[in-house]
Amino acid sequence: MYLPVHNILSNLSGGYHHAKSNHGEGFCFFADIPLSIKSIWQKHPKLRILIIDLDAHQGNGCSSILGKDKRVAILDMYNTVIFPRDRNAEKLVSYKVALCRKTRDKIYLEKLNSMLSKALDEHKPNVIIYNAGTDVYVEDPLGGLNISEQGIINRDEIVFKAASDNKVPILMLLSGGYHKRSGDIVGRSIVKMIQKGILNY
Ligand SMILES: [Zn+2]
Repeated sequence: MYLPVHNILSNLSGGYHHAKSNHGEGFCFFADIPLSIKSIWQKHPKLRILIIDLDAHQGNGCSSILGKDKRVAILDMYNTVIFPRDRNAEKLVSYKVALCRKTRDKIYLEKLNSMLSKALDEHKPNVIIYNAGTDVYVEDPLGGLNISEQGIINRDEIVFKAASDNKVPILMLLSGGYHKRSGDIVGRSIVKMIQKGILNY
């Protein structure tokens, strides 16, 4: 039986989702998410994990390393026309949401809502790892998507509310974000969730 001490954790670095098992890739030196999961499995080998990767880039490292393991499901929403366009890794993503360039808030949040419900219902995770990249932001120089600041705040709320409603512990990693407002957006998002009581479970 897995009994977490805290239901919500965050690491202000982390989310190096492009790193493979034997080499780094795309600003990612090592595969921190797979390493963390394999470490926790040493004590709790039956633990079921859902990785929710909402960074603008495809999380090809995580899916390459973990995609065949039935204890892991990966929900990956990403801009398909930017780096890394790793078609082999893409085949290992359990819940893939391919986004067009310049996708806006409404479509983005609708797709997240529906795929997240499906992933939670089907996989029934014991732990969620949330790769909360802010490079989906409209002014981000690398992400190529058109998500507003409020859209990112709404997105985080959807993910944390789903974790809270299902009583699943969640680890948030900040992953990519290359605009000077990225840090402010993360801060505002967390403050809003604290004010709404979403993080109290
Ligand atoms: Zn990214």
